[in-house]
Amino acid sequence: MSEQTPRTRQVEAISDGTVIDHIPTEATLVVANLLAREADQVFIGMNLRSARVGRKGLVKISGRELGERQLSCLALIAPSASVSIIRNYQVIHKGPVALPARFEGIAKCANPNCVTNHEQWTTRFDVVNPNPLTVRCFYCERSFDTGELHVVH
Ligand SMILES: [Zn+2]
Repeated sequence: MSEQTPRTRQVEAISDGTVIDHIPTEATLVVANLLAREADQVFIGMNLRSARVGRKGLVKISGRELGERQLSCLALIAPSASVSIIRNYQVIHKGPVALPARFEGIAKCANPNCVTNHEQWTTRFDVVNPNPLTVRCFYCERSFDTGELHVVH
């Protein structure tokens, strides 16, 4: 046991991989589905106690660190989340998920009349407000909140 091991853990520790914490509890399964690949070992916690947000979700993906596109998806779905990189049971990096200035090809526009839903365009959403996260479609100029947009795989 290392000195840094907390006395109680709500979800099993992983030796290497990524921990996504402070997920809104209702978005936890969406995050897990989106980020996990078929062969991944994934640990999911929901309705965990959190001093900061009351109840939260947590997803641990063993053996893998997330790529740029996955981090962008995460920022769109759960902008309040934090991401920790674990190597050999040590947290080597921890911080809020980075919010890109724009999301390209990440989500489908929720406006059924938007040109991106009728022609082969790569969708693009610009961040207009980081907190709470609001993005605007570059093509139809409609604004959306987190949770209104569906991420495309
Ligand atoms: Zn649009």
